[in-house]
Amino acid sequence: MPETMPETYEDDHALAEQLVRGEIPVPTLINGLSIAALPLLFFFAWRAGERGDFIHVTVLIVVAILLVANSFVYWARRHQALQRRTFITLITFLFFYLALGALEQGAAILWLFAYPPVVFYISSIKVGVGTCLLGLVGVTLLFSPLGSQLFNAPYGNYFGITMTAVLGFEMVCCFLLDLSRRRSKASLLSLARDYEYAAKHDAMTDLANRREGLGALEHEYERYQRNSRSFSVILLDIDHFKGINDTYGHQVGDKMIVMVASQLKTVCRRVDTVSRWGGEEFLVILPETDASQAYQTAERIRSTIAAQTVPSDSGSPISTTVSAGIATICNSASIDRLLQEADDALYEAKSGGRNQVCVHGTPVEVIAD
Ligand code: GH3
Ligand code: MG
Ligand code: MG
Repeated sequence: MPETMPETYEDDHALAEQLVRGEIPVPTLINGLSIAALPLLFFFAWRAGERGDFIHVTVLIVVAILLVANSFVYWARRHQALQRRTFITLITFLFFYLALGALEQGAAILWLFAYPPVVFYISSIKVGVGTCLLGLVGVTLLFSPLGSQLFNAPYGNYFGITMTAVLGFEMVCCFLLDLSRRRSKASLLSLARDYEYAAKHDAMTDLANRREGLGALEHEYERYQRNSRSFSVILLDIDHFKGINDTYGHQVGDKMIVMVASQLKTVCRRVDTVSRWGGEEFLVILPETDASQAYQTAERIRSTIAAQTVPSDSGSPISTTVSAGIATICNSASIDRLLQEADDALYEAKSGGRNQVCVHGTPVEVIAD
């Protein structure tokens, strides 16, 4: 992804991936939790109001408003990282406030148990560990003699020790569960990538397979229809390949195919798509390339391959030649027509004696000049 890609685009991309994997998207979870927190916050505020504690009322209502505002900002800007950071800050503050303020006669501190699973799910493991450690240190301080003096909290010693131990235990469990969730997600993603690669590539040569080559051709054709920049294709076929198989065996034939594929990769540009079109046939797509440039490339491919050898059991290395047919899109009305033209040119090269390149519709002498 280019460095200049706006963060919101990356967010949308990550969101789409989460949906495909069947996960609850983080923004949806944050919005859901924010909405679910509202009745609780208003309930606590109402109870604090009844006791005449208007600082608690104000703080709780402000947090509720900020949670709602955070969701609205997300809807307006689709900025996932901003929404997540703001939410974590707000809930960290809220949970600390519930603990320090000893709301609900100290019972509200039990809401701290909701913090670790939420924070591990919505943020990175690093942020999860960091905020949980911070929380645990805070809770330990709160229950320490110093904390008791400072905050005058109504928590007994035994409660403090149990609460800290159980919270610490929960945090470790959440960390381990989240770690294994992330690891299995990563291995599933890598497995999916491997399968996708295998579905698009030829196992013997590692080139794009015919389906992928056709996909690249359709993509290039669409681009041509948009901007009228012509492109060319080279259809290439190993000469007398059946003879190589018959004389030296299939293994040597396979080595020959791999050698041709590797020379194609070396000679062609990164923007070109080289695919194994059939048994000993290859298709090269050359974007923004006219017939004369394609001819030069095909000639380079032909002479490079002719100069290579492949070891055989008979002791002496063997070589081969290829024939190539070129077609350029500017003369073609469709992909099928383009492929037919390249095939016709290849047929011309074969019937002209093989080990040569022909361009559809143009005598080679004209192109080569
Ligand atoms: P031409 O010069 O006209 O192209 O003749 P050719 O012998 O190359 O063409 P033909 O179509 O008669 O033979 C192609 C052979 O390629 C037949 C097939 O058994 C062989 N072949 C196809 N795929 C593979 C492969 O993956 N490995 C090996 N070793 N042979 C293959
Ligand atoms: Mg052949
Ligand atoms: Mg063939």
